[in-house]
Amino acid sequence: MSFDRTKIRWNGWGWAAHKDDVGAHEAVWTWLAGELGMPALLATPARPLEELTLQPSAMSDEDRRGLRAIVGADSVRDDAYERAFHALGRSYYDLLRLRAGDLSTAPDAVVYPRATKEVLGVLAYAAERAIAVIPYGGGTSVVGGVTAARGKFTAAITLDMSAMDKFIEIDSVSGIATAEAGIYGPVLEKALQAKGFTLGHHPQSFEFSTLGGWIGHSGAGQGSNRYGRAEDWLVGAKLATPRGLLSTGDFPASAAGPRLKDLLVGSEGIFGVITEATVRVRELAQESDYRGYLFRDFQSGAAAIRDAMKAGIVATMLRLSDAAETRFYRAFSQVGKRRTVAARMADLYLKIRKFDDKTCVLIAGFEGSGSEVAAERKRFASIVRKHGAMALGRGVGERWRQGRFQAPYLRDPLLDRGVGVDTLETAAGWSNLNALYAATAAGLEKAILETVPRQGARGIVMCHLSHSYLDGASLYFTTIFPRALDGDIAQWRTIKKAATDAIVANGGTVSHHHGVGEDHLPWIVQEKGELGIAVLRAIKATLDPAAILNPGKLLPQ
Ligand SMILES: Cc1cc2nc3c(=O)[nH]c(=O)nc-3n(C[C@H](O)[C@H](O)[C@H](O)COP(=O)(O)OP(=O)(O)OC[C@H]3O[C@@H](n4cnc5c(N)ncnc54)[C@H](O)[C@@H]3O)c2cc1C
Repeated sequence: MSFDRTKIRWNGWGWAAHKDDVGAHEAVWTWLAGELGMPALLATPARPLEELTLQPSAMSDEDRRGLRAIVGADSVRDDAYERAFHALGRSYYDLLRLRAGDLSTAPDAVVYPRATKEVLGVLAYAAERAIAVIPYGGGTSVVGGVTAARGKFTAAITLDMSAMDKFIEIDSVSGIATAEAGIYGPVLEKALQAKGFTLGHHPQSFEFSTLGGWIGHSGAGQGSNRYGRAEDWLVGAKLATPRGLLSTGDFPASAAGPRLKDLLVGSEGIFGVITEATVRVRELAQESDYRGYLFRDFQSGAAAIRDAMKAGIVATMLRLSDAAETRFYRAFSQVGKRRTVAARMADLYLKIRKFDDKTCVLIAGFEGSGSEVAAERKRFASIVRKHGAMALGRGVGERWRQGRFQAPYLRDPLLDRGVGVDTLETAAGWSNLNALYAATAAGLEKAILETVPRQGARGIVMCHLSHSYLDGASLYFTTIFPRALDGDIAQWRTIKKAATDAIVANGGTVSHHHGVGEDHLPWIVQEKGELGIAVLRAIKATLDPAAILNPGKLLPQ
């Protein structure tokens, strides 16, 4: 295992030892209370594990012995920390439950296999003994993808893949590498970079998520414009199922019928457990250049990205914040600081140039050889100029890059002060992206206003466009709002429903890269159609006839 799990927060984000730099500044909280229309923010600490009582494990002694015979005694664990850590994922909803001490979905045991044959052994045993199995990578799912639900079974085990974290080999001639699926992002990247290569898959959860989870949830990293999403870089994999091992093959391309590897991307652990994967890798970029541009509004920024995609410009990332996100991060970065004369002059200059409260920041990242970076950046700069943008230089881009994994650490301090923070994402074609954006933002704003705890309170709804394609792009919304402390789960449901209803009604997918899990189930039949769901069910029935794998995820019960 690459790092010690007990050093990670069981009910929050990241390393337990991480220092809360934001919480230390009282000015930030006073400012945020004002933004949210609250007279003050309340202390709402999470309940410590020592205070909580877990239901006794429902695993019989016979089954515990049976599993130990397959993976070894040390690899079947049922202490309080292990069960609590694996009860839920890391969505806002999960955090509300964990912090309140709701451990009703704690698995009855956590099993750590070390080899594919052990995974096969556990699955065959669980199918015979009717035990639910929840495949688990880093547990960073934000859609209820790893909730240890028992379904119709009397016991559930979480199959934690983190002990299967070997980097197996690289074929540098073909540019493909193979690793075990439980390998964490930083460990995989370190091994690849030592050979001069990168996968380039950097989700914001990079530090704590695994190769198997990236494929299982059909993920997209921040640099997906250049490096692709899981479906693009996955070449082939081994899937352990209760019926035996499925190897998908690893051809660069094939016309021998539909490709089996495509079944694995987004399968969310319901068909089997990915034990190894072969991925397409690229030589490390010699140069990278991240810089900012200012647009007069969201629509002109989106149009510039669309034009860049149509012109075939190879950017690593084009990330356009809407006016609310631009304003929020600017104001946040200035809390407690004195306004300098230079800053005031800059504001005046922007005003004269008609960059008003609709102004949006775009961060454009380019990677590759020096000449490639220079050429693509130049082509992009000429497009943004046509859309009236102003160049901001590299400072803003480099600051974004340095802090790219930091934002999730803000969730715990916010939750500690009665502030909710949630994210959701979707994608649609260019022709209805603006309508989708407006409808989703309106749905979120209305639902937040209906559920805030007091009159005059309000939320912040912000969005960025990221991950763009020839035919469309994804939209990623962040909401910050005062928690309705006497019913914060009902509040979350109301907000989530309003947003997802708006997304579906306006032609967006229920998820661009977070997945379906439990949280998007109410909308999945509408998106896939009855026949589509029947196809997925038939595959499941073939690979997992006893339906032990990840009950209640992806397919409605
Ligand atoms: C703060 C934060 C930021 C995030 N940012 C991003 C982002 O930028 N891009 C993005 O794509 N996602 C993001 N996510 C969502 C999440 O991190 C991704 O879905 C990630 O790919 C999950 O990886 P994991 O190893 O944690 O998987 P888990 O959460 O453990 O599992 C995810 C799903 O895959 C299944 N699974 C896991 N391992 C296997 C396996 N070996 N075989 C079969 N099934 C398996 C699980 O059963 C589950 O259904 C973010 C989440 C958080 C909390």
